[in-house]
Amino acid sequence: MRKKIVAGNWKMNLNLDEGQKLTSEIVNMLKDEHVKDVTVVLNPPFVHLYPVKKLIGDTPNLFLGAQNCSDKASGAYTGEISAGMLASFGSKYVILGHSERREYFKESNELLTAKTRQALDNGLIPIFCCGEPLEIREAGTHEDYVKQQLTESLFGFSPEEISKIVIAYEPIWAIGTGRTASSDQAQEMHAALRNHLAGKYGKEIAEGISILYGGSCNPSNAREIFSKPDVDGGLIGGASLKSRDFVEIVKSF
Ligand code: 13P
Repeated sequence: MRKKIVAGNWKMNLNLDEGQKLTSEIVNMLKDEHVKDVTVVLNPPFVHLYPVKKLIGDTPNLFLGAQNCSDKASGAYTGEISAGMLASFGSKYVILGHSERREYFKESNELLTAKTRQALDNGLIPIFCCGEPLEIREAGTHEDYVKQQLTESLFGFSPEEISKIVIAYEPIWAIGTGRTASSDQAQEMHAALRNHLAGKYGKEIAEGISILYGGSCNPSNAREIFSKPDVDGGLIGGASLKSRDFVEIVKSF
């Protein structure tokens, strides 16, 4: 059975005190709620990793993730953070290829292959983001566009490696806009991506890969979206900054 995952992407938000408060609240609520079969991931900014990891402690099903990593292993790359460093700080996941990084930091499909390689080589699970802009959705070419993102970045990896990767489908027009994709739109794309993975790696491997939905996911729409057969959870932005909302989403399966 595929892993169900809810990952919070804090983006560039919260100072130290706020990050610690949010984490403590989530840890306490998850202890009370006994959410058993959902993997929960907190992806704070790099500087929060150490204190957040301390607060997570050995909370069951709760893991640390980062929002990016370098495409290089180590060396003279001022300002960069390597996948090996993230692993040494207790990160288990790393978000790669978020549309904000593709757009504002010009990350290409090729660069994302190198980052994914670094993540895998250091034992991190990549949460690999893909998704189309509004004009591509309106032109009706969204499936081909997103499939190509996967082909160009990921299809050089071995079957064993691809099995370790989590995919997050985030239509750009739904991110931070309050305009979520409908559950049918999400299901349609997730099924198309799973088919695409099956075409390259076989049905058994494709069936084992978790595909998350991201984009204006909140406590009111999560249940409907997560009820779709090919939606295995969510990558949550704004709503992950409020402990109650985030935990409500975790409970939405
Ligand atoms: P919102 O949930 O704020 O729309 O952000 C989604 C996202 O980009 C998560 O990575």
